[in-house]
Amino acid sequence: MVDLRHAAAALEPPSGLIARSRTLGSRRDLVLHGGGNTSTKCTVSDPTGRERTVLWVKASGADLATASTDDFVPMYLDSLLPLQHRETMDDAELVEHLACAVVRAGSRRPSVETLLHAFLPATHVDHVHADAICALTNTPNARTTVADALGEDIGFVPYRRPGFALALVSVLEAEGRTALVLEHHGLVTWGESDDESLGATLELVRRAELYVAARLSHRNPVPRSTSLSPAEREILLATLRGRLSRGRRVVLHVDDRQRELSDRDDVKRVAEAGRATPDHILRIGRRTAVVRQRDVAASLESFEKENRRVFDEHAVQLEGEPEPRSLLPSVVLVPGIGCIAAGANAREARIRAELAATSHAVTATVIDAFGGVRWLDQAEQLEFEYWPLELQKLVSVGEPAELEGRIVIVTGAASGIGRAAAEDIVGRGAHVVLADIDAPRLAETAASFAAERVAAVTGDLADEGTVDEVVRTAVERFGGLDAVVLNAGVASCGSLQTLSQAEWNRALQINATAHFLLTKRVWPVLENQGLGGSLVYVASKNAFAPGAEFGAYSASKAAQVQLARIAAIEGGRIGVRANIVNPDAVFSGSSLWSPELRRARAAAHGLPEEELESFYVARSLLGSPIRPEDVAEAIAFFVSDRSRATTGGVLTVDGGVAAAFAR
Ligand code: ZN
Repeated sequence: MVDLRHAAAALEPPSGLIARSRTLGSRRDLVLHGGGNTSTKCTVSDPTGRERTVLWVKASGADLATASTDDFVPMYLDSLLPLQHRETMDDAELVEHLACAVVRAGSRRPSVETLLHAFLPATHVDHVHADAICALTNTPNARTTVADALGEDIGFVPYRRPGFALALVSVLEAEGRTALVLEHHGLVTWGESDDESLGATLELVRRAELYVAARLSHRNPVPRSTSLSPAEREILLATLRGRLSRGRRVVLHVDDRQRELSDRDDVKRVAEAGRATPDHILRIGRRTAVVRQRDVAASLESFEKENRRVFDEHAVQLEGEPEPRSLLPSVVLVPGIGCIAAGANAREARIRAELAATSHAVTATVIDAFGGVRWLDQAEQLEFEYWPLELQKLVSVGEPAELEGRIVIVTGAASGIGRAAAEDIVGRGAHVVLADIDAPRLAETAASFAAERVAAVTGDLADEGTVDEVVRTAVERFGGLDAVVLNAGVASCGSLQTLSQAEWNRALQINATAHFLLTKRVWPVLENQGLGGSLVYVASKNAFAPGAEFGAYSASKAAQVQLARIAAIEGGRIGVRANIVNPDAVFSGSSLWSPELRRARAAAHGLPEEELESFYVARSLLGSPIRPEDVAEAIAFFVSDRSRATTGGVLTVDGGVAAAFAR
């Protein structure tokens, strides 16, 4: 055995193991998102000075692509090897034995395939779910196909769920072999050096690819079905999201690259014939739904009904009498679009789309190259889907964030109140489309968020084209819409005697008409989703208590308030709430308060410019400055379900201005 004493003594996994893991992880056709696992055995002195062999094995759920020191668990091999003499071991016992063998208390949970790594005598062991290998093992005559493609010296292990029994059977099969193919599952290779094990994986995958490719050469390209128009896509996505959000809100990810799969004549077969490897079942379910433009509701209903039937039929055999997990699909194939995946957030939806792309492609390849698929039977699929041990790795800690799964548009989002509102809402778990006319500032604001949480649209919101793009972005990027913060605004100064018509028109255009256009544009999306919605209009204290030489601003803000009230009246029928936030004198980070506006308002109040802010503070009942975060808090209240019983309401965030009390 290779002496890796130095690395192990420092209790760091061998650097060769990390490098090898990353190389495997960098190939998306080998493993995806936490799939596969690797290990290396080396000698250490334990705290009592005894020489012992440590197995460094990947932690459960860790991603090979980004593998680092913390992703490997050191375990004493001499605590694991005697388990080979057991006849049976259930998962609870397995977990206990693994816990007893870890070198350090507080280590992460080791891979569920740890015993396989421990029992195989080689120093280095690798296990991947390579697409081409999975294709071979999901064929009708998998054993023969694997031998034919990879050679007779490769062992073949009939399907079993990972754990003690699979490890035992695999080790017996491995004797005299150079690698193992696990039926319906993946590949195991080993070696006395990192390169030997890694090289075996790469070589066998290459052979499998060539074998499959030779059988695909006669295949005709799939004719494309007609693409859905942007308007049809929007209706489909909103309707789909509405249906899939019945339990909890989901975010959708559209994968256009799966058009070749969604447009096949036998798309239903691809959707239902199986998964590349059972691991995918945990994240994308046992089956994919096929949804067509005109029958979203009916397709989902029959999908759900069938899932319920299968669950009821097999529930008694499942461990721990589980409740059914969601019976709705997490991935759907839509002819004319591709694949749409749903998740609690954009990241989860994207990961599901990527896993589905692999699973669908492997299934389609097996159909095309071998004429049919043989996959796990329904009982085996459910046994995996409801496997308590593996479900643990999907359980997130703590309550979901308040706005998890919500999609919100914020206008005027580049600075001031809009930016603070976007930060607040994203901080509560939502996804946000930021809109603003100020391109550089918007880009800077957008860059301050995690890229998967936000999308940005630059343009004039008084222009219907921009409004259209904002709403379409929300639907295309995230699948729909739950709330809109109508915040963009301009401040036009001047007495009625001196105000130009152009300035008057501009105030009405931005402060009133733009909000009308956006309200009108989001309506069909909210109606198609059927989830209600929340419109939050950021108006102004001036709507109720106007000021001299601020006529265009005050009149247009009053129009916005009245627009919001009409939206509340008309929206109640479809569960859409509309509420108003009236801030005053929010200076911090504001682009509304330009130097000209400061000068003009100071002049209107007969003050030196530098005293303007303190004048507003002193004028308020509470006598303290108003921060953008204060307004953001009020906006978040109206966006969230905490205000579910309020519509047509006004919340002032002005420090208390008696003249502007709502009435
Ligand atoms: Zn595996």
